[in-house]
Amino acid sequence: MERKRNQRMYDAVEVGWVCVVQCELDAATALLDERYDDVSPEGGETYILGRMGRHNVAIAYPSAGSYGIAPIVRVATKIHQEFRNIRFCLLVGIAGGCPDPRDPAMDIRLGDVVVSEPKGNRGGVVQIDMGKNTDDGFRIFSHLNKPYQELLDAIPRLRNDHRNNHQRRKMDDYIDAVTRKSKEQPEPGYFAFPGREHDRLFQSDYPHPPKQASCANCDEKFVWRRDPPRKRSRVFYGTIGSANNVLRSAKERDRLRQEEGILCVEMEAAGMMDTLSCLVIRGISDYADSHKSKEWQPYAALAAAAYAKDLLTYIVKAPPARVHGKHCFLGTVPLDDVDRALAASPKAFPQDLAELVNIMSNRKLHFFEVRLPRFHEFLRKYKLSHTSHWVEADPNQIFDGFNITKATAVLDNPQKEPRERLRAARARAFLLSNRRGLVTIYRIHDTVLRMWNYVESG
Ligand SMILES: [Zn+2]
Repeated sequence: MERKRNQRMYDAVEVGWVCVVQCELDAATALLDERYDDVSPEGGETYILGRMGRHNVAIAYPSAGSYGIAPIVRVATKIHQEFRNIRFCLLVGIAGGCPDPRDPAMDIRLGDVVVSEPKGNRGGVVQIDMGKNTDDGFRIFSHLNKPYQELLDAIPRLRNDHRNNHQRRKMDDYIDAVTRKSKEQPEPGYFAFPGREHDRLFQSDYPHPPKQASCANCDEKFVWRRDPPRKRSRVFYGTIGSANNVLRSAKERDRLRQEEGILCVEMEAAGMMDTLSCLVIRGISDYADSHKSKEWQPYAALAAAAYAKDLLTYIVKAPPARVHGKHCFLGTVPLDDVDRALAASPKAFPQDLAELVNIMSNRKLHFFEVRLPRFHEFLRKYKLSHTSHWVEADPNQIFDGFNITKATAVLDNPQKEPRERLRAARARAFLLSNRRGLVTIYRIHDTVLRMWNYVESG
């Protein structure tokens, strides 16, 4: 019942905002310009709904105490099912920084912000515990999806304003407004700037003594002197490392920075990026070493959320729905990527792709448990990047002349060849996506079908 009553509200949401730790949720909520009623769809998570600038946002978080990649995959999948008009997701929260205090370009400090940015064939996030051991050490192989193009287009404009026009750096105003307000709240000063004297980066070979709760007894002479002191958060763009385990090692942190160019490490982004394109925004709350503490977490979470809110002002409001009428998302793998994979494995690639077509067209295999993971496995194996584009499309072309009844009949007929069944599956998902959250299925089927047609056409 609740679902029906709220359908219009669900449909008005365009931006998914995912966080994990309580202070991240607090920061996101504090930055809402207007808060609507929370919703909890049947058998799902609770979402905080509200308006941030001109965008309606659904804030999602996994149930308390669940950390790491798996719960995030579930949240990311669910949010797209519940809110069919979500265009992209932001993963906003805290992380451990990987600074190099000797290099001004890498002098990441507590309260700074790191934004995932694709570079070369990397999607902006790498999973750091999925590599293989090789002779020259542990190499990272997993390159995850690139964020949604509309976000990538907005970032340069925001960077330009941040650099050249400080009055347009709205994130500072957002931070100030929340810290001011938090003085009067039950936990006064919760979001307050902790002060640079509490930002201590110890030399990498000086470990935190065991069984000491704080750094009160840690030796000041091993703290890096860093000039000039600054209060405002600096924003860094680059690669974020994501792992299932907490990193508490200065040596490993330094290695990740030197060898992989990683700016910060956290525990959720890989789960998000692997499911659907999203942008990861991280406030630096510690240095991923044995001295790490929670003191900076609320402020760092606030800085990341303020950046995200600033970024949203650069995104135009979308037309009300994405699959109604002639608009839809098309999934794409760049043809250059396909060509490269074909050249590298001329036999295996078409074989694996044919098998994937077979799997994707089998309606009996559950999509989110079997077909989607196999799709991502395929992308990873051949290092294919996957994005989506919002297009105006001719419905006849999309539907292939199918209606739901006809598509279902073809899909369930084992006599039909896999490609025909996949076309039926794609059309069916598209037609049903007006009623249910099947857009993801549609996009994935569309991507596979396009690749298959391309490979077949030689
Ligand atoms: Zn310490």
